[in-house]
Amino acid sequence: MAKYKAYFYKKDDIGLLFYDIFFNLRFESNTSKDKSMQEQLSQINQIIAEIKDFQADTKDKLETFKSKYIGKKGEVASLFEQMKNIAAEQRKAFGIELNRLKEVAQDKFKELSETVEAKTQVSSSKPNDLTLPPVPYALGSIHPLVQTRARIVEIFERIGFTQSEATEIEDDYHNFTALNFPPNHPAREMQDTFFIEKNQTSDMLLRTHTSSVQIRLMQQQKPPIRSLMIGRVYRNEAISARAHCLFHQVEGLYVDENVGFADLKQTLYHFAKELFGKDIKVRYRPSYFPFTEPSAEIDITCLICKGKGCNVCKYSGWVEIAGSGMVHPNVLENCGIDSEKYTGFAFGMGIERITMLKYQIKDLRLFTENDVRFLRQF
Ligand SMILES: [Zn+2]
Repeated sequence: MAKYKAYFYKKDDIGLLFYDIFFNLRFESNTSKDKSMQEQLSQINQIIAEIKDFQADTKDKLETFKSKYIGKKGEVASLFEQMKNIAAEQRKAFGIELNRLKEVAQDKFKELSETVEAKTQVSSSKPNDLTLPPVPYALGSIHPLVQTRARIVEIFERIGFTQSEATEIEDDYHNFTALNFPPNHPAREMQDTFFIEKNQTSDMLLRTHTSSVQIRLMQQQKPPIRSLMIGRVYRNEAISARAHCLFHQVEGLYVDENVGFADLKQTLYHFAKELFGKDIKVRYRPSYFPFTEPSAEIDITCLICKGKGCNVCKYSGWVEIAGSGMVHPNVLENCGIDSEKYTGFAFGMGIERITMLKYQIKDLRLFTENDVRFLRQF
């Protein structure tokens, strides 16, 4: 009997089920209700096919589906109403088919609802009023060190300086020996330099100044040389308001025939006036560096007290901005440049120090802390 067999059919085996039902109907009964049963079953089959093909991409179409199939006056409900016309012994098999139709309709409705929901969300995320002002976009600012660096480069580029670069990891030869540092110079000691590894020919280290770039440049290029060496340098120092284990340097090198101390003075005088304003005074104070002879520290009038004396300038009226000097003949010779024919000057300054003087920043650590309240001011 079909009504008992129906329990064992696979969910999708609906064709076979109909065949069994029809077979049983043909041989077991021949009443007017049989015809009604056959009609209803083929109608269910047809509705299931319709439901499976139904497409809905709007809420209106979804509503149409709902009222046509699963609403109170929908096709499923009206078929349930016709249950009473089915012969009593076939009612159970018919009921199973009807429930299956109901299930298909409900599943399809759920699927269509999700599709429509997803489409509505996408369309509602579009701005409704295109004339509204845009949401403010917070732009960052250029880091004060980068600004100072750019300004320094701009000043020196106008008087013919190029830019040179080299690695931050250096060997002892390019960082010290070629620059005329004697073997027992205190800068080589562990407290000043970050050594990376001992090496038979030359120890590896993090460069302590960008002067190593000057050496590499002079080894590769013959005079005239007029270039800036800019970059990060490292020293083994305790971090405080006035010192850091890393900072940035700008060095300059000019090597050619007949370069004298007057050229050095005029170049840095021009630089100080361009960067700090025409009222600034510059002085050269004798000093010592292994790689220059003669050597001089460069001071400018204190920007805070204008030379009257304050605690920043230690009541001297002057602040130091750079070291400088005529390139030592030994350095030129170490790089294969004839020191009888060529002379040159070099200078170096910390970008942090220049920036602190220019903007009157009291703590060096602010540059690396990435505090937006500090950075927004520039
Ligand atoms: Zn002062």
